[in-house]
Amino acid sequence: MEQATSQKKPARRIMVTCPFCGRRNRIVADRVADRPRCGECGRPLLVDRPVKVSGSDFDAVIGGTDVPVLVDFYADWCGPCKTMAPALDELAAARAGEVLVAKLDTDREPEIAGRFGIRGIPTLIVFREGRESARSTGAIGAKELAELVDQDPSGAG
Ligand SMILES: [Zn+2]
Repeated sequence: MEQATSQKKPARRIMVTCPFCGRRNRIVADRVADRPRCGECGRPLLVDRPVKVSGSDFDAVIGGTDVPVLVDFYADWCGPCKTMAPALDELAAARAGEVLVAKLDTDREPEIAGRFGIRGIPTLIVFREGRESARSTGAIGAKELAELVDQDPSGAG
């Protein structure tokens, strides 16, 4: 056996709400490829696609997730939101376990939208360790999306 030279870091976790039964689960970020299942109903918890968040679990998901969380503040009637949906799907699939992609319906959750001062949609906000670290308003492509997620938070002032 190899001897670890330094203390192993605790596993990073991702908080997800089971879309079937509503139970919140904290899954190990590095093991999302193993298809984690809900501790309550046993159904798969899929984070390789955007996950829906609402007012009831927003704070728990943002605060309980150790990897960056990209939240898409959108509305169903918003054309530009639909335009950029494929880029969000792509990012969620490509970076599953490294970045959690979430979406919040601003029509259904005006309180959350108001709290973050959302004036135009789509607005993309990146949260790191529970805090906003980057934001962009308006539809952007896959490349800009990746840059937003990878933006160095220390340079954000
Ligand atoms: Zn469940």
